Parts: sequence; structure tokens; C-alpha cells
Amino acid sequence: MTKPDHIRIFDTTLRDGEQSPGASMTHGEKLELAALMEDMGVDVIEAGFPAASEGDFASVSEIARRSKEAIICGLSRSTEKDIARCGEAVRNAARPRIHTFISTSPVHMKHKLQMGPNAVLEAVGRSVAQARNLVDDVEWSAEDATRTEFDFLCKCIDVAIQSGATTINIPDTVGYSHPDEYGALFRRLIETIPNSDKVIWSAHCHNDLGLAVANSISAVANGARQVECAINGLGERAGNAALEEVVMALRVRSDTLPYTTNVKSEYLSRASAMLSRITGFPVQYNKAIVGKNAFAHESGIHQDGMLKNSETYEIMKPEDVGVAKTSLVMGKLSGRHAFRDKLESLGYVLEQDALNDAFKRFKALADKKKHVFDDDIVALVDDQLAEDGERAMFKRLRVVAGTEGPQTAEIDLVMDGEDKFAIARGNGPVDAVFNAIRSLIPHAGKLDLYQVHAVTGGTDAQATVSVRLNDADGFMATGRASDPDTLVASAKAYLHAVNKLENRKAKRRAA
Ligand SMILES: [Zn+2]
Repeated sequence: MTKPDHIRIFDTTLRDGEQSPGASMTHGEKLELAALMEDMGVDVIEAGFPAASEGDFASVSEIARRSKEAIICGLSRSTEKDIARCGEAVRNAARPRIHTFISTSPVHMKHKLQMGPNAVLEAVGRSVAQARNLVDDVEWSAEDATRTEFDFLCKCIDVAIQSGATTINIPDTVGYSHPDEYGALFRRLIETIPNSDKVIWSAHCHNDLGLAVANSISAVANGARQVECAINGLGERAGNAALEEVVMALRVRSDTLPYTTNVKSEYLSRASAMLSRITGFPVQYNKAIVGKNAFAHESGIHQDGMLKNSETYEIMKPEDVGVAKTSLVMGKLSGRHAFRDKLESLGYVLEQDALNDAFKRFKALADKKKHVFDDDIVALVDDQLAEDGERAMFKRLRVVAGTEGPQTAEIDLVMDGEDKFAIARGNGPVDAVFNAIRSLIPHAGKLDLYQVHAVTGGTDAQATVSVRLNDADGFMATGRASDPDTLVASAKAYLHAVNKLENRKAKRRAA
């Protein structure tokens, strides 16, 4: 039996998170994240939307097959076909769950569903009963619950419970609620609904007004025992409640919030770093819990206080969330073992061959650069992972830039084992580089994003370039690469993105 004060952490990074524009993940990346979530102690992993695509079905099935302790959940609309497909995908999990939903607010019923209230009620009963025939654990959500008329919401929930739902989710789909209001809704529902003590009540909050975590905590204080959230707050629009913030708020303020979760908080930084690497979405510097500055003390007064006693300005310790006490700077004398530990703390678990390769690259960089910082290592391993299995590899680049023009790029690539050469002009050196690559690998990707960051301080720092390509068929690919030369980094990043784009299209054709 679970204790009444236990809060289930339901992670929807792979479903709601993956739905956010530009955040699509590959099959392998989803498996990697799911494995980390399981180790971290997430209670429920929402692995995807099986009826949405063949790819989603395959990753939910595989995550289910590999699962140990965690409940593996698939999302499903209320149609018969979707629920059957979802049941098939989660079937091999040790603990499968089907999560089915339908809109209940007047505006959604009228414009989205074009269904009247009675038809919606009928669909709730039918869908939950069908799901319950496939698995014992069924979650039902009233989409747009916070804008639903209270009496109708009660009727729907009552039908869902009578049809066999075991978890009832009350999402603030549009991120419109505020904490008092959202908490009061849970209290009132739990008081009103017969048999409300037979189900687990769940919160699912969006961050459009920056209130997702506050709303989730308020729901917990008013009876919710499951919180749906995502690593780094990833999710539709402004995102979902951030998992790391919910977990740490409950932990740090256990004096007034007497609840527990199963999440091992020392995994939080790793999870954040892994997701950021996979999606290419940087974590805001001042992001609570996992931001680069979350534990940095810059002002003299603060630093002085910190040196005397860390409690003067710190409500939690960096090591509580997995940030190493001192960010160990690596150099050319650092050994393989220390290097592997460092990689793990940064969110990378590499197989032996990949580890050897990364260690070689690290040694080469340490020869050129006295201090190798965490960010240098992240950049180095990202480059290596990006190159893995790519069709076209970067070899050499020469660029003519400056005021005299014409800006020209000469590039050598290795494609399918063969050397290729191209020369192209452009409107500036970056454009010339991209045109040269495009002439060797023709593709329909449109440049959606081009960003340059300095990895660390100083003019000798490496530059990290991010490139995102988008094509008319809805395929999107992000490439990132680092090099002390910005144009070389640009060429490599563009090449990674092109390789990924072509790979995705080939896979889709094969599926
Ligand atoms: Zn959502």
C-alpha cells in the first residue's frame, strides 16, 4: 500500500514535452530518457501517443518492454481504434496504464469535438470501460477541465469512476488557473464526487502564466496525489510544470508540505542536461534548480556569507540535485576514470568504444587548452554522438571572407567512404559554406535557426553553433557542433542537421 502522503510523479516529457515545436526525439533518444527516468524513481512514465504514428507506437512498445518498476502509460483519444492501439503498445510493461481523455469545456465540445454534452458523457463511459477491459490501471482526463462547467465536470468524473477509471486527472490545459482557484477545484470535486476516495486525483498544469508549479503544489495541498510534469518544464507552448521544481519544492518545504516522492533528487541535473542535449533546447541560466546560475553566488556580500556558512543564502545544497560540490576542472593529467565520472555527472553514459573515442578527443583538446571545463566536454561528446553513423563527414574547409569578396567556401567531405569536393559563393561566409554543402547534398531543408555561442569565456574559447532545418514535409532536424573556428563549427553543425534530416526521411519512407 502506498502511504496517503505519497505523491506520484508522472513524467510526460516523452509525450506532452515531445509535442512542443522543435523538440521531437528519435527512438533511441526516447529509450535513453526513459531508462534515466526509471533509475531516477519516476512513478509513471507517459511514453507517447501510440495512435499518433508508427514511430510513437514503436517507442511506447519498446519502453514498455524494457520497463521494470515504473508504470508505463500511453495516451489515447476516446475512440475505439486509438484505445485498442494504446493497449497493444503498453501491453508488455510490467505495469501498463492507458490514459484516455476527452474535452469537457463548452468551447472545446462545440468547436473541437462538435459533440453535445450527452454524447461526451457517453464517450467517457465507453472509452474508460474499453480501456479497463485491456488493463487494470486506467487514467481518465477531462481536457480543458478548468474551463468546464462544474456540474458537468462532476457528471463526467462520476461516469469515469463507475466505468473503472483508477486515476482522475484535472488538467489546466490552457494554463489559465491560479493556485487558490485550482486548489479549491480539487477540494470541491473530492468533496462532491461519490467514491472520490477510490481513485487517485491528478494535476496537470501548463505554464502560460508561469503558475504551473504553484498550481500543482496547491492541488497537492488540496488532495491531489499525482502530479504530471516534465523535465525542464518541457511541453506544449510555455510548457508543463517542471519536474525538478515540483520535487524540490516538496522536499525543501516538507515542514509545511508533508508529502514524499520517490524521485532521487541527485538525478535531477543529469536528467536536465540529457534532455537539453537531446532536444537542443538550452536551459535558461537562471532556471530554478537546474540552471547554470541556480547555485552561483556572485555579489561580495553573498559570497562572504556563503564562506562563513552556506545556510546564509542556500536553502538546498547543489549536491542534493546532483551538481558536484566543486565543478572539477579537467586537464591533460586527468585519468580515464575521472573522465567517465565527469561524463556521467553531465548526463552521458557511453558504451566502451564510444568512451574510448571520447577520451581520445578529450586528450587532444586538453593538449591545446590548459583548462577543460564541463561545457567543453559537453561540446566534445555532442560532436562525437552527432557524427555517429552519419553518411557525410566533414574533412576540410577553406573560406574567403572580409570586405574584398566574393565570399567563397571550399569544402571537402567524405560521403559513403568517398572524397567529395565543392566550391560555392554566398552572401557572406556562412552562406557560402552552407551553399557548398548543399551542392554536395541537395535537400529541401530551410534554415530555421542559426545560433552561435561561446562555450566558455575568452577569445580562444570554442564556438558552439546550432542549426535547425525544416522542410515542407514537416521534418525538422537540429545540428550542433563546436570548434575554435566559428566557420568550421558552422559547417559541422549544418552537416549534422542535413544528415539527421535525410536520416529521418529515409526512416519514414522505410516505415
Ligand atoms: Zn498538457
